Amino acid sequence: MSSDGATIAAALRRDPLYVDPAYASALPTARRAALERRIERSPVRIYVVLVPIVAGSTWQSSEQVTTVVQSHLGRDGAYVTFDADFDDVFDVVRYGGTDEEQQNARDAGWAVSYEKGHTTLAARLGRCVDLIATGQGSAAYTKAKDTEFPPRPAPRPVAHRAGGHGDLTIGVPAAVAGVAAIVGGLVWLRRRRARAAMEALRLPRTVFGTALEAGDDDLRARAERDLIALGESLDGGEQALDAALDAYDAASRTLDRARSTADLAGVLALIQAARGGPPLCYFDPRHGDGTITVHWRAPGTRPRLEVRVCAACAKAVRDRRAPDVVLDRGRPYYEAATPWARTGYGQFGDLVGSVRGE
Ligand SMILES: [Zn+2]
Repeated sequence: MSSDGATIAAALRRDPLYVDPAYASALPTARRAALERRIERSPVRIYVVLVPIVAGSTWQSSEQVTTVVQSHLGRDGAYVTFDADFDDVFDVVRYGGTDEEQQNARDAGWAVSYEKGHTTLAARLGRCVDLIATGQGSAAYTKAKDTEFPPRPAPRPVAHRAGGHGDLTIGVPAAVAGVAAIVGGLVWLRRRRARAAMEALRLPRTVFGTALEAGDDDLRARAERDLIALGESLDGGEQALDAALDAYDAASRTLDRARSTADLAGVLALIQAARGGPPLCYFDPRHGDGTITVHWRAPGTRPRLEVRVCAACAKAVRDRRAPDVVLDRGRPYYEAATPWARTGYGQFGDLVGSVRGE
């Protein structure tokens, strides 16, 4: 039986590191003392709450732990808990500070799971505390991800592969002969996006608003082709539904105003909505139909989601790897304040309504 929020908050007033007896052996006294010194040296106030998070028990989610404990303690700072789904991830929520500082804290908890070499709980926790203290969470997260997906020059021919990939998205059954090209295209897209993400992060912040990725010209051309085909099919239909026309309008306007890869991917999702097709992959509409349902949580404080994804992303989730997510100005799209993030490209909200409300 785990302690309740008031008890944990009281303990944190004396010691910023709260460890449930279940983890006592994983954090020997000497390691605990070293961790406490690092926490005390940190310019950012840090509270670590290590309690078991198990469905049906006292603590069922990291959000619950953080929210309850912080409300009892009433102090700003970075709260570190276990992630319910990933053993080697810490969920970090920073109360107070700027958006960037809050993001840095969130990323610190995720970076340690990407970085190799932190084999013990004490080592991972120490690294996480250091990243929060130094404000290097986001930089470490990006670097570790880049190590996992090394940026490489895109192989040729680009147009052919983009075209093969497009067949998948518009829901036409892919010919067997095209599968190799599609798989090749996915690998290539992943490498290219990892590179583009790094490049976007090196740009000055003021450029972010219009930073499109390498390869977005191809994506834009494909979205235009699909949109024209959709317009023709709607014109030819006897009774085009209002909903389909609304989705078509939203797709057209989005294409005109697209400022990011995430926006262009949104055009694909809107075209799919106009067609009444199944949802596209939650992580990246360019992947094609979301044929598999998975449970997934984004790093940070988001709730666990039930999402439809493509086969490659489903495998990544099962293997506990980061899925190949579409980027919005260098960050996972779901972290932005956009219709795409709010609705998961339409998987849990009214995509067309959300776009029209912008
Ligand atoms: Zn996917």
